[in-house]
Amino acid sequence: MCFQCLFWLNLCIASIKKHTIILGAGITGLSTAHYLSLKNKDFIVLEKKNRVGGNIQSIQKNGFTFENGPNTVLLNNDSITSLIKAYDLWDVMSKPKESAENNRYVLLNSRLQLLPRNPLEFLKSPLLNWKQKLRLFKEPFVAKHNQNTSVAEFISKRFGEGILHQFVEPFVTGIYSGNPQNMSAKHTLKLIWEAEQEYGSVIKGMIKKERKAKAKMFNFPNGLSQLTDAMANKLSSQIQYDCTIKSIEKSGDDYIIKSTDDTFSCQKIISTLPAHALSNYISDENLKSELNAVEYVPVDVFHFGFNKNDIKNQSQGFGVLTKPSDNKHFLGILFNSRIFSHISPKDKELFTVIVGGSRQKELCKLEPIDLENIVVKELMDLMECEQTPIFSNHYKYKKGIPQYDMNHQSLVDTIENFEKNNPNFHILGNYYNGISVSDSILKANNFVKINY
Ligand SMILES: Cc1cc2nc3c(=O)[nH]c(=O)nc-3n(C[C@H](O)[C@H](O)[C@H](O)COP(=O)(O)OP(=O)(O)OC[C@H]3O[C@@H](n4cnc5c(N)ncnc54)[C@H](O)[C@@H]3O)c2cc1C
Repeated sequence: MCFQCLFWLNLCIASIKKHTIILGAGITGLSTAHYLSLKNKDFIVLEKKNRVGGNIQSIQKNGFTFENGPNTVLLNNDSITSLIKAYDLWDVMSKPKESAENNRYVLLNSRLQLLPRNPLEFLKSPLLNWKQKLRLFKEPFVAKHNQNTSVAEFISKRFGEGILHQFVEPFVTGIYSGNPQNMSAKHTLKLIWEAEQEYGSVIKGMIKKERKAKAKMFNFPNGLSQLTDAMANKLSSQIQYDCTIKSIEKSGDDYIIKSTDDTFSCQKIISTLPAHALSNYISDENLKSELNAVEYVPVDVFHFGFNKNDIKNQSQGFGVLTKPSDNKHFLGILFNSRIFSHISPKDKELFTVIVGGSRQKELCKLEPIDLENIVVKELMDLMECEQTPIFSNHYKYKKGIPQYDMNHQSLVDTIENFEKNNPNFHILGNYYNGISVSDSILKANNFVKINY
């Protein structure tokens, strides 16, 4: 027998054969696995770490329950509803307090300022002057964009600078930790962009489009990991942990995946890895360079626990977001124990302070203890608290949140082109077509419906 035949014979005997291999056990990989298991498909999930969840990381410590990654998930599609029900978690879900659903703050002169909750509050709000408020009425008469533009240009052209700085900058900070000057309007403000394109005006479009009930947010008593852990328990024999992938190669109709310990072969690969991780295994130069160009901004997450009696400012709500002109050393603060009741004992409070993103990259280079000292002072000043925290915790995402920048369409086109040329290599992930946990679950469900 020739050497090559021996090599392939050896590979066939030694390799673990599966129809489908999913790379990564974050919420996208786990959801894809869930939907494949409903169809009794033959698959395995390869995960680099010894735990599932990826960005979703809930921790219970000193009586507090907190999240390093996502804190709230929106119940905004049927896929997420049915997924929660499938793991018997529907009845135990933590629902937010009403004040947390309605009250969001920005800063005005370094103090908490409630965002308007209805048209009357908008007209009365001190966040905009009369000229800036009246500018809103001009929006239906502004010509629509005939090509994609930045979030900053889109909003200032349609609504004026006031709305951009007071409302949209904090919003973009809250979801993407991004810079509106560089972010793609078409991909970041998808619904607003589509309303403008279809109706020539965002306001007209929003009035004409079917009004959906406001999506509810949720968490679980043990944190969001309660969902990913339940999924991992059910899928346990189909997840390979501590699996560091070395290479992915095509061999005839199959793919051969080599990890440090094993060799796998499969007909279909579904990558749910972050763009920078996937690029290590891609030989297609176009895709490799597009994946490497996706910017993941750093994020430092601090948790601070206090005795409730030590905090004078009892403004109830979801939290506060900042804009560059506030000159603060944080992007936002979540009022966790004022959102959900499972977060802390009744006589304690927990806040999550988020630093970084595209506007505070330099701060993420500081020693965590130095950064902590800066932000805890700002938090205590804002919440009028004279006693230092009774508890603190820190987590760093060196590569945190992918940015949907002005190059985004080129990334999407390149991925689509790659998938056309490699019909059994599929690419999912939060760096395109939606960044949230609920987007990730919906995308996984739609993907399995179309491809299996
Ligand atoms: C700080 C922060 C706050 C957020 N807040 C919210 C929020 O409040 N609400 C919301 O809806 N969304 C939020 N998001 C976004 C949301 O968390 C993510 O978009 C979502 O969790 C992404 O899931 P994923 O499975 O696509 O990717 P990931 O969670 O990144 O999972 C990828 C998986 O692949 C594994 N992996 C990586 N490299 C390899 C390799 N070479 N081989 C094998 N496995 C590998 C990783 O270990 C990981 O398990 C937040 C994100 C961050 C970072």
